[in-house]
Amino acid sequence: MVNSQCIEIPDGHKGYSLSNFCVPKHYEEDLENIMIPSGLIQDRIERLARDIFQDVKDEPLTALCVLKGGYRFCTDLLDKITTLNRSHGSVSVPVNVDFIRLKSYENDESTGEIHVVGGDNLSSLQGQNVLVVEDIIDTGRTMQKLLGILWKYNPKTIRVASLLVKRRTESTGYRPNFCGFEIPDKFVVGYALDYNEYFRDLNHICVINENGKHKYAV
Ligand code: 5GP
Repeated sequence: MVNSQCIEIPDGHKGYSLSNFCVPKHYEEDLENIMIPSGLIQDRIERLARDIFQDVKDEPLTALCVLKGGYRFCTDLLDKITTLNRSHGSVSVPVNVDFIRLKSYENDESTGEIHVVGGDNLSSLQGQNVLVVEDIIDTGRTMQKLLGILWKYNPKTIRVASLLVKRRTESTGYRPNFCGFEIPDKFVVGYALDYNEYFRDLNHICVINENGKHKYAV
């Protein structure tokens, strides 16, 4: 099992101006900048799909999509793996999908607890090669707790793919097997990552501004 390297977005990265890309009008006042444009997200996922495909080889894979934030990453990643399945004549990875729903955040603060609030019956994971598909690893606590829960169901292997990993002084040091981008310690939204359920309908990964935090606070 491999641990792939992230693309590192440095702390000084200013992001891209909203005026250079297409952003829904209803969010124009609520974003500081675009950290990762949607095209770059897609190109990076294409490579992650290839890395996962080569790592798993011919074994069946159960993708466990962590809702809601992971749903777009999971869809795009599985699309790209199934494209590889079609084009690699001699090798293919049978894939099925399960879903789990966790909640750990309110506004932009971690509540310090994770709750499994929905999803499939995890006993189906027994004996499976599981690929957990997550949007972002911040401190790493959520993933470590989730892995503790999942191992109780006796899967054969567990791999973790996270689109983003945040550079945090409070990090537990946890690193996923597959990671898209390592990002500065800023609260990001878009590409299914939300702030109190807003911004999932934004294609780019963006930094929320104070206006956005205030407007959509609960
Ligand atoms: P951790 O337990 O690693 O500190 O937190 C992981 C969870 O916090 C993620 O699954 C996500 O739900 C949430 N989270 C952490 N940072 C961000 C962020 O910058 N943006 C959004 N939308 N969610 C975040």
